[in-house]
Amino acid sequence: MKVTDHIKKANGKTLFSFEVVPPQKGKNIQDLYNNIDPLMEFKPPFIDVTTSREEFIYVDKGNGLFDKRITRLRPGTVGICASIMHKYNIDAIPHLLCGGFTKEETEYVLVDCHYLGIDNVVALRGDSRKDEPYFIPTEGGNCYASELVQQIADLNNGKYLHDEIEVEHNYDFCVGVAGYPEKHMEAPSFQTDLKRLKAKVDAGADYVVTQMFFDNKKYFDFVDEARKIGITVPIIPGIKPIAVKRHLHILPQVFKIDLPEELIEAVEACKDNVAVRQVGIEFAIQQSKELKAAGVPFLHYYSMGKSDNIKAIASELF
Ligand code: FAD
Repeated sequence: MKVTDHIKKANGKTLFSFEVVPPQKGKNIQDLYNNIDPLMEFKPPFIDVTTSREEFIYVDKGNGLFDKRITRLRPGTVGICASIMHKYNIDAIPHLLCGGFTKEETEYVLVDCHYLGIDNVVALRGDSRKDEPYFIPTEGGNCYASELVQQIADLNNGKYLHDEIEVEHNYDFCVGVAGYPEKHMEAPSFQTDLKRLKAKVDAGADYVVTQMFFDNKKYFDFVDEARKIGITVPIIPGIKPIAVKRHLHILPQVFKIDLPEELIEAVEACKDNVAVRQVGIEFAIQQSKELKAAGVPFLHYYSMGKSDNIKAIASELF
């Protein structure tokens, strides 16, 4: 079912959802299931599955020289979606990236998704590759998420990239896109970034999922400003519980987000990461309660591996 239909069906009730990351190549999918299983009691209508960018690795040839090879360390997004749908009988949503994929490859992924009965996809540009200073579009690929949304919208209207074929059955993907309550790091201003978000919605996006934030006021202001410029689609807040002390440095550095003073002080006062995890849980519970009281359609959690903290949070809310 489409995310937008889940929201309509919920009739104002806030729903629970979360995001998982595919296991590293060579690892067992059972580890992923072990983290999903404890969260199923909260009845998530969907689970998102991320896609990772390709990266370069250097293989020692043993003669003082290294081979530079390109690889994707966590492949299998669509396969994992299919296995989640099969095992749990809920929707699974693959993240599609512009970076690392030609438009043709994207079309084939969408064809696979259609045959598998996947109703939703999240359209993203992707970050820059680790060896690149900034995002460099892949040759033959989409440059911005708005272009990827347009490609999906075209397919929904029966328009393939190159083929002049008689289309008997149009695709009907529901499309999610990313939004940034604290602005995307590369955008020259908050308002410009909002206009780019509007371009994604105008191209056909049906809902927005936000980057993590720790100050609800930033989310509420973001939604207000988005509504002012005519973005009417649902805006789902993304919540990440702090889990280790080094998150105080990593999250602002990687995602260009602010952390509230009270959270920083509480984390800094912790003796170990067990205590930090508890602080993160309690903070996320308070944050989630306020968002739920405000009537957000979903509370969407970034689980990033172990799900015990998401379970502790969801137990207080769902
Ligand atoms: P875009 O919407 O294309 O925006 C990127 C930048 O370009 C912004 O600064 C925007 O303002 C600017 N821009 C947009 N259009 C134009 C234009 N026409 N002209 C000039 N500038 C423009 N990354 C992954 O690699 N895998 C994932 O699975 C993944 N999942 C994510 C899920 C969520 C909910 C979120 C919030 C992010 C996720 N990301 C993921 C990270 C995301 O790929 C990065 O934040 C990326 O840097 C931007 O992606 P975007 O889709 O927002 O890009």
